[in-house]
Amino acid sequence: MRQKNKIRTFGLIGKSLSHSFSSSYFNEKFYKEEITNTEYINFELEDISKFTQLIKTQNLSGLNVTIPYKESVIPFLDDLSADAKSIGAVNTIQFINGKLIGHNTDIIGFKKSIIPILESRNTALILGDGGAAKAVKFALNQLNISHKTVSRKGSFNYLDISIQTIEFYRIIINTTPLGMASEIANYPKLPYEALTEKHLLFDLIYNPSETLFLKYGRTHNSSTKNGLEMLQIQAEASWNIWNS
Ligand code: NAP
Repeated sequence: MRQKNKIRTFGLIGKSLSHSFSSSYFNEKFYKEEITNTEYINFELEDISKFTQLIKTQNLSGLNVTIPYKESVIPFLDDLSADAKSIGAVNTIQFINGKLIGHNTDIIGFKKSIIPILESRNTALILGDGGAAKAVKFALNQLNISHKTVSRKGSFNYLDISIQTIEFYRIIINTTPLGMASEIANYPKLPYEALTEKHLLFDLIYNPSETLFLKYGRTHNSSTKNGLEMLQIQAEASWNIWNS
């Protein structure tokens, strides 16, 4: 049984957290739902090697993980959920009986957010190949959507994207940080002129609410969606894990 008046502390680890919505999302949730004696704090870590010290010095009940530590945090954990293990990325840490268990709720967040707007589209181009892209690929596999990844360092990079590529892939998903609040003038380099009303552009970025990537899609009559609902769904899924 939970001790009366004991503060439960949850938080987010990442390198630069000033643009993250997670702490305002959770603190507003605690307020609205009258969840008392509970707080959600940002913990900026300059390096993942500081993780052990954080765990020792803070009495934590659960953590979220963001850029750039979703993969590098894994060696510090005791175990992983099946999904987190299979994709090799963690965005949620459960503290249970002194053990740290890694989960990935980006998968369910992305999946539930894109399903209602998929229509009959079943081909996707994924921009970027970091931690979030792993969750996106896993979800697309579950949805039987064939996909190709565009990576600066991979076998298919931005210079390889032709008009025909855009004509073939009806869903384009931005998992890069291009366009986020700290760099709003940036956007993935694509032949945007090939976009049509048949396309769906999904940006994992939610701040700003419309990146240039989404704006160019809208200009070409494509459907667009930002990452806000994904963020909310993954946050609720994290909350459920911490309270299970
Ligand atoms: P990450 O692990 O750092 O991966 C981002 C990837 O983007 C990199 O691996 C890189 O792929 C590519 N990239 C980085 N800088 C680039 C540049 N200048 N030009 C082109 N490509 C670049 O980050 P992440 O954790 O996957 O997160 C990515 C984005 O998704 C962030 O904006 C994050 O806030 C957002 N996100 C949102 C949600 C949500 O709930 N809405 C959840 C997770 C993440 P290559 O090196 O392969 O090109």
